[in-house]
Amino acid sequence: MFDKLHEECGVFGIFGHPEASKMAYLGLYALQHRGQESAGIAASNGERLVAVRAMGHVADAFSESELTHLEGRLAVGHVRYSTAGASKLVNAQPILIDCQHGQLALCHNGNLVDADELRDRLVGDGAIFQTSSDSEVILHLYARSKAPRVEDAIVESLAQVHGAYSLVLATPDRIVAARDPHGFRPLALGRLGDAVVVASETCAMDLIGASWERDVEPGEVVVIDASGVRSIKPFPPAPRAQCIFEHVYFARPDSYVFGQSVNTARTAFGRRLAQESPVEADVVVPVPDSGVCAAIGYAEEAHLPLRMGLIRNHYVGRTFIEPQQSIRHFGVKVKLNPVRSILEGQRVVLIDDSIVRGTTSRKIVRMIKAAGAREVHVRISCPPTISPCFYGVDTPRRSELIAATHSLEEIRKYLDADSLCYLSLEGLLAGMNSHRSEFCTSCYTGRYPVPFPRSQAAELQLPLKLVGSETGE
Ligand code: SF4
Repeated sequence: MFDKLHEECGVFGIFGHPEASKMAYLGLYALQHRGQESAGIAASNGERLVAVRAMGHVADAFSESELTHLEGRLAVGHVRYSTAGASKLVNAQPILIDCQHGQLALCHNGNLVDADELRDRLVGDGAIFQTSSDSEVILHLYARSKAPRVEDAIVESLAQVHGAYSLVLATPDRIVAARDPHGFRPLALGRLGDAVVVASETCAMDLIGASWERDVEPGEVVVIDASGVRSIKPFPPAPRAQCIFEHVYFARPDSYVFGQSVNTARTAFGRRLAQESPVEADVVVPVPDSGVCAAIGYAEEAHLPLRMGLIRNHYVGRTFIEPQQSIRHFGVKVKLNPVRSILEGQRVVLIDDSIVRGTTSRKIVRMIKAAGAREVHVRISCPPTISPCFYGVDTPRRSELIAATHSLEEIRKYLDADSLCYLSLEGLLAGMNSHRSEFCTSCYTGRYPVPFPRSQAAELQLPLKLVGSETGE
């Protein structure tokens, strides 16, 4: 219903805990925002991996008795939002296989850009795929490897794929965590007593009382077993391309992602936005929840009051029944309702984190005006989204991205806003502590750090531009 980009997945793993599967369940609970279509956990008692997967939210996917049967001190888990592969149970993860190397459970966050080609080649060689997800390619490559040790077979399979992956893998007696050499998607490493924890975001560690130690580095493979934690760096170094949109929108503000507080980054984006695009106004109002941190930064910098002029209903399911007699702004009103006492007669600065198609933003602006606001000045805490993502984020085709096909003034008119400004790319990168070259910003620039098949580019009517090592820039 909401016109937003969607994160693809969240991953979690724990080794050395007597209630590993219950810890995984809680970890996935904290990562629910990264995927709501399906959830799964695989656990091992030291000899056999057993997996449970189901459609729906974590709270509904597992029964108490199922978790009790997932015995052992090792567990990995996954929450999924599909982009590559349909939304059905067969594509839910962990994907559990049994091959010449023994059992392996795979949890993947990201998207392999060459999955289709690899799949065609493997199918041509006789492989039988069980799912339509890109992640299964890694398992087929792993199963074919002649490397004698499990971690060598994993490295050998990963060396053949390209794109974005943060992986948590399990065999009956170990966990292996791996991040692609560009480091597109996050992966954090922590401890809970003697247990070792890996998770897409640190908020999953907070919930179970684990402490975050560091991130799994881009290109690093971490093996966790009874002998301890071993780090391998088997891949040639590559330019970093950490997804900056994790900080703009996806990640929870209480998480540390790529080593930096998401809340701090978002607040800094809001401050920069106020510096770049000030406006005469009475009140700053965020689009909840993701616009809140940037709105705090904007309000502080602009010395304007921050008010919750939109209230979000957190209990709305994915679908709802619309009455035949149409209700004004119905789709948005189900989830957001304006607070008339805050908005009436006010000049409002409305802060949101992004505009994708513009359809929801337009409804929100009109809803705020209908509630009595005198002016609505829209401020977006990132640059215009002009290009699709190929690295694990669900984006519409380029032709559907309003900023790819319309000028700023055309978008403003469409939204019915009194003014519209986006944060500049400079401002966005300045909000991060790390060096600007460490981030992927492709959806704002159309410049891609990892090439993808030209067939995809043509389909999206997208000029294929590469940055970094491929072009020598
Ligand atoms: S294209 Fe955008 S959403 Fe995709 S990885 Fe890069 S910054 Fe993130």
